[in-house]
Amino acid sequence: MSVVTNLGRTAARAVGGLALDASHGVLTAAAGVRAAATGHTIGPATLRVHVVILSDEAGRPLCAPEAVRPALRRADEVLRREAGIRVRVARLQVIDEPAPPRALDPRANQLLLLDDVLGRTEFYRRHEAPVDVATLAVGTPVTVVVVRRIAGRTTGCSLGISADWVIVQAGLFDAADPGSYDETVLVHELGHALNLPHRRDRRNLMFPESSPPDGLRGTALHPWQEAILHANRHVVPGVAQPR
Ligand SMILES: [Zn+2]
Repeated sequence: MSVVTNLGRTAARAVGGLALDASHGVLTAAAGVRAAATGHTIGPATLRVHVVILSDEAGRPLCAPEAVRPALRRADEVLRREAGIRVRVARLQVIDEPAPPRALDPRANQLLLLDDVLGRTEFYRRHEAPVDVATLAVGTPVTVVVVRRIAGRTTGCSLGISADWVIVQAGLFDAADPGSYDETVLVHELGHALNLPHRRDRRNLMFPESSPPDGLRGTALHPWQEAILHANRHVVPGVAQPR
């Protein structure tokens, strides 16, 4: 694919994502007003998550699927408590096909965005959850790709609304290594995938740094962050229930 085509795709997804997020947010707010007027409460919203674990050059999985479960449970616990969103794991799977080196050991942040534009993230997109055209992409899962090593000090990375996938480093799920084990990174990257920017408050989930084992970031969210999450097209609104 040409650079121009890839750039067009990345930009179109970003713009399309923004437009969908805005209209979806209005609908969500309207449902809340309607439910309040008719004596109903809105049940928890749902975020579907796919997890794919890459395999190295020798075909060895980077980690066991079960090793990712505690971080997924943590994501569910944090998003339910702070935002009324439950996390449903729709797929948790090892990709047996050996991944190419640039997928195993990707670059971070702006360089990852550049690689996406240059068509170098094809392996991730090939294994991400398919977009459901019938529902206009509302409720499309976020795909979490477990990679071997991200360049620099970064252990997780998201391209925000321009991609439906995030990457996290396998060492985050290695409970035998307290210096790298960190359950907050997966849910932090989900936050980015749902449009949340960084926040300079150590107690907040979107604080940029987290240093295991003693300097982990907090998992709190502010009400405006909760509102952004609910306006996101990946989040399926809860259904109205009688009070
Ligand atoms: Zn971040």
